[in-house]
Amino acid sequence: MDCIFCLIDRAILVETKLSQAFFDGFPVSPGHSLVIPKRHVPTIWELSAEEYVDLFNLVKEVKELIQDQFEPQGINVGANFGQAAGQTVFHAHIHIIPRYSGDVPDPRGGIRNIIPGKGTY
Ligand code: 5GP
Ligand code: ZN
Repeated sequence: MDCIFCLIDRAILVETKLSQAFFDGFPVSPGHSLVIPKRHVPTIWELSAEEYVDLFNLVKEVKELIQDQFEPQGINVGANFGQAAGQTVFHAHIHIIPRYSGDVPDPRGGIRNIIPGKGTY
């Protein structure tokens, strides 16, 4: 299958029977990690209930690992579902993006800023 997340031989941060986590290859910030189901599905909406719970349990575990290792002051967690939402790798994944005080001039709104100018309300 032509999917980098299925094919790539990368360093695994932590894994379970159904999910795994690794550092993003083009990190937005130090510690930027991805959590994926081992089964190839384009979005998390195709996962079984067991896979879904397993994935999000691993998100929490990775969040704690990143907090200990990188000591960020905040974290954004998010996912892109569909090309219109910015998805570029069509194997489901959750981004865990550590945030550091001063990494942008005004962090207000966080993920609201995916639409430029919509951060504040
Ligand atoms: P998307 O845009 O689909 O939500 O995110 C795909 C993510 O995969 C991006 O953040 C990108 O940096 C990451 N990525 C793309 N290619 C590779 C790779 O070969 N290795 C790793 N570890 N991450 C990758
Ligand atoms: Zn895949």
